[in-house]
Amino acid sequence: MPSSRELLLELQQIVDRPIRIMVVCGTHNRAILRYDLRNRLPQNLELVSGPGCTVCVMPSGHIDVVVKIARQPDVITATCEDLLQVKGTRESLASVRQKGAQVEVISSPRECLAIAEANPDKIIVYPAVGFEATAPGIAEVILEAASRGVDNFCVIPSIRLLPPTLDSLLADPHLNIDGLLCSDHINSLSDTEAYTGLAKKHHLACCIAGFEQEDILRCLLNMVGQIKSGVAQVDNLSTVVYSSEEYVKAKQMVTEVFFAVDTIWRGLGIIEESGFVIRDELSLYDATKRFNVRLPDEEIHCQCICGMIMSGLGLPPDCPDFGKGCTTGHPIGPCMLSSEGICASYYKYTLENSHPV
Ligand code: SF4
Repeated sequence: MPSSRELLLELQQIVDRPIRIMVVCGTHNRAILRYDLRNRLPQNLELVSGPGCTVCVMPSGHIDVVVKIARQPDVITATCEDLLQVKGTRESLASVRQKGAQVEVISSPRECLAIAEANPDKIIVYPAVGFEATAPGIAEVILEAASRGVDNFCVIPSIRLLPPTLDSLLADPHLNIDGLLCSDHINSLSDTEAYTGLAKKHHLACCIAGFEQEDILRCLLNMVGQIKSGVAQVDNLSTVVYSSEEYVKAKQMVTEVFFAVDTIWRGLGIIEESGFVIRDELSLYDATKRFNVRLPDEEIHCQCICGMIMSGLGLPPDCPDFGKGCTTGHPIGPCMLSSEGICASYYKYTLENSHPV
C-alpha cells in the first residue's frame, strides 16, 4: 500500500486544473484537519464543507421540543452524547438534567428497550437525530418494540436525508462542485442509488472512504481520476461492505416505519422530502404524537454563518466570530458546539493546537 507521502506526491502530479470537492461528512472534515491535509494538498485541489453534521443541522426549535418532552415527570430521555449540550432557544438536555430531568446517555438506540423494560412506569424517549444511515437501526428497534409489546418507548423523529439536501445545494451554480467525498457514516445501508443519481444529475465524481489519511487521499486520487476522464459515478473504497441481503432488509425496515416529508435544516431552510417521519400505523412510537407536540418548521435567526459554511460557500475563518466571540469553550453556533462541527474541528486543529503529521 502506498504511504500518505506517496499518495500526496501522486496527487501533486495529477491535479492539473482547479478542482472543488465537497467533504460531506463532519468526521471526514475533522480527519482532514487533524492530518493537516488542507495545507499539504495541491493548491488547485480545494476542499469545501458539506452539511454532514447531524447536530449542526438541527434547528433550535427542534431542540426545544426535545427539552420540553424531557421535562415531563414520567419521561426518561435516552440520547447520544453529542446532543446533550446542544442548546435550543434557552435550555439543553444537559441543563434540564441538572434541574432534575431524567436524561441518560446511550451509545445505541437498542439500549432504549432495556431501559424501557427496567422502568415500566416511565416513557423512554429517544431523540432520533441522524442521517439516513441511522434509519435502519432505529426502524429495527421500533419494529422490535412493536413485536415484543414494549409500549413505553417512543422516538422523536428528526432523521435527515442527505441526498435531497445535497441535490438542492448542488443546484447553486456558484458552488461549482466537481466531486463528493462521502463516508460510511452517511452511506452505509442507505439508499446508494440516491448517490448514483446525484453523481449523474450533477456530473459528480463521488467516492466513499474511511477516515485514515491514506483512505482520504486514495479517495481524492480516485475522484481526480474520474474528473479528468469525464466519469461521474460512485466508487466505494471503504473496507465496510454489506451484503445485498443486508441492503434489502434495511430498506424494507425503513420503508415499513418511515416516510419522507419536507423538513427544515438549520441554516439551510426547508428542503423537499429531506426528513423521515413515522407512519401512522406505528404512531404509538412517535413521541410528537404521544406528547402532542409539533416540530417547528421555521428557524430562529442568529448571526452565525454555519448555514453558509455547511453549504460549501465559506469556511470557519470567514466568520468574524471564529476564535474570538465563538470558541469551543463559548460556542455561538452549532458548528462550534458539536464535536463533529466544522468550526469546532477548525478551532481545535488550527487555533487551539496543531497536529502536523
Ligand atoms: S465560528 Fe461560531 S458563529 Fe461563526 S459560523 Fe462557526 S459556529 Fe457560527
